[in-house]
Amino acid sequence: MGISLHSLLQGYYMVSFFCVVSLLRASTADPGKLQDSPKIPLTEKEFWELCNKCNMMRPKRSHHCSRCGHCVRKMDHHCPWINNCVGEDNHWLFLQLCFYTQLLSGYTLILDFCHYYYFLPLKTTTWDLFVFRHELALLRISTFMGIVMFGGMCSLFYTQVVGILTDMTTIEKMSNCCDEISRARKPWQQTFSEVFGTRWKILWFIPFRRRRPLRVSYYFANHV
Ligand SMILES: [Zn+2]
Ligand SMILES: [Zn+2]
Repeated sequence: MGISLHSLLQGYYMVSFFCVVSLLRASTADPGKLQDSPKIPLTEKEFWELCNKCNMMRPKRSHHCSRCGHCVRKMDHHCPWINNCVGEDNHWLFLQLCFYTQLLSGYTLILDFCHYYYFLPLKTTTWDLFVFRHELALLRISTFMGIVMFGGMCSLFYTQVVGILTDMTTIEKMSNCCDEISRARKPWQQTFSEVFGTRWKILWFIPFRRRRPLRVSYYFANHV
């Protein structure tokens, strides 16, 4: 019992740690801001367009974020929770953040359940087991927060995954602009590998690394 409870708690700290790291990295990372005078590769020239807000050339599928005041490559949306844009270069961190928050709130709910059903009845036999006077109140707050976060994060994560599978950013989905572009359906491994910048699936879950774009330029491949 002692060992299993310990590993349960260590697992909880691990998930919390991954959650905090992906939060910090997603909020501080460069989402894919466009440089002032970008070098446009000759072969891609026709896939660039002018932004009428900052008067700069940008690759197609970029979007101008009015809150950040610049264009972001393959922008998904501006996220007020991380106070940063979600774009090509930090989309993978945002996905990890959703994933680990989801995992953490689910984990919290399981621990709350255990606490309520297995540990609370022990109170009647040994009072010393419990430290806090307001334990039950804390438990209820924790359960409430857990349900709210778990529900919210599940739906957000689901929308994000569907977006990646259909290769559409949230902005494109909202504006219905891209129905006329017939995109070749790519296998899911390919679309996820492009977002995470690696084909190694285990690395998709690791926030401690640098993302390197895959060799294929996606907007080029998509719009042909
Ligand atoms: Zn712009
Ligand atoms: Zn922004």
